[in-house]
Amino acid sequence: MTAQTQTATDLLATDTAHFLHPFTDFAQYKAAPGRTYVRGEGIHIIDSEGRSLLDGMSGLWCTNLGYSQTSIIDAITAQLHALPFYNSFFNCSTDATIELAQKMTDILPAGFNHVFFTNSGSEANDTNIRLVHRYFDLLGKPEKKIFISRKNAYHGSTIAAASLGGMSGMHAQMSALPYVEHIEQPYDFDADARLSDEELGHRAAQALAQKIDALGADRVAAFIAEPIQGAGGVIIPPDNYWPQIAAICKERDILLISDEVICGFGRTGSMWGCETYGYRPDLITFAKAVTNGYQPLGGVGVSDTVAEVLTTSGGEFAHGFTYSGHPVACAAGIATVELYQSSQIVDAVAKDRQVAWATAVQALSDHPIVGDLKSKGMLMGIELVKNKNTRERLAPDSGGAVYCRNQAIDGGLMVRQVGDRIISAPPLIISDEEMTTLVDRLRRALDLTAQHYGINES
Ligand code: PLP
Repeated sequence: MTAQTQTATDLLATDTAHFLHPFTDFAQYKAAPGRTYVRGEGIHIIDSEGRSLLDGMSGLWCTNLGYSQTSIIDAITAQLHALPFYNSFFNCSTDATIELAQKMTDILPAGFNHVFFTNSGSEANDTNIRLVHRYFDLLGKPEKKIFISRKNAYHGSTIAAASLGGMSGMHAQMSALPYVEHIEQPYDFDADARLSDEELGHRAAQALAQKIDALGADRVAAFIAEPIQGAGGVIIPPDNYWPQIAAICKERDILLISDEVICGFGRTGSMWGCETYGYRPDLITFAKAVTNGYQPLGGVGVSDTVAEVLTTSGGEFAHGFTYSGHPVACAAGIATVELYQSSQIVDAVAKDRQVAWATAVQALSDHPIVGDLKSKGMLMGIELVKNKNTRERLAPDSGGAVYCRNQAIDGGLMVRQVGDRIISAPPLIISDEEMTTLVDRLRRALDLTAQHYGINES
């Protein structure tokens, strides 16, 4: 029986019988299975029972241009007919791979003229470690091996990427790489005494300087961070944070890696998050929206400073994947970049869409259980509280946010819960009308949550 011929109930039974889902409590899922999605239309996803949800998460931060981009689908189909696969090892290449490499350098910041392709963001961050270690080895500084990252960062789920990440739950289930160190993130909502934005940005940036100085700059290779922490809960840094971080890295000869797997491709109001915050990284991680989520593809944008050392010194770079630069994924990437260029969607986000988004979601900030609401570009994060003054949470173990997320989904809106936060990152193409629907459905979920915990509704 194919998926198309199974009923919704059969599908769920087969799902729980055979499929181990990522980041899922397997025992809990068997007892209470989820939903199966069978179609996408515009910015909506439709489940096996025919219910339509407005996708306030762009899939998993991927489908920035929604689910109905026929030019990407056509490009994938044409590539499958022409050359469904060939590899890039041993002096080989494919025309699609070459073309996407060039197109990426067109849209990457100035001074980025090389890319290395992978299949995912995780593999791209593994690749960053390999590239950085190789770079310093070639420069005759092999003792520079340590990576510094941040608590609560998400850089992927391979052992190397999860080691770079700062998710305590993941670290508890693995043995992390010994050469990764973590510092605080610019976030203090749950602190007893909160700092001003300025003080918070300064303190979090100084944590990097202190860590490098404690370890010795001659041993530290790179600092990796997301411009805005996405999976960690859309943690938007104070404005003074990134300029200080960039200066600290530069002064101490530490490479700066901007993990743009979420923040790239227009999410923050510029093509890259580093452009929004005005810093210049040495390496840029990309994935997800590069194919609008239609094919698995990731990679690293390599700055001229790093590329010059790697490409002039000779000797094989002993790293790569069978599917690095897969022609079908690259065909999807080419069509996606062309859509970005022809629609000028990033300009639209910068000029108008991010303002419309900020205005629409700010309407929720006076809701009795919203303790804080911040947006940037086409991202938003809400802290849920029982009491706005004391910042007391609705329930232990993030129960309030889980309840609210479930209400939103039942009410036709896909959002995500991270700790006590509700986050949203809708497709960049969301219309004004769809923004209104999103906010209405989220308000309804907040009302139901407030009611459930006995707090006055808005
Ligand atoms: N880096 C960041 C910032 C991410 O958000 C993610 C995934 O969400 C990754 C890396 C890992 O990407 P992937 O799931 O494609 O391996």
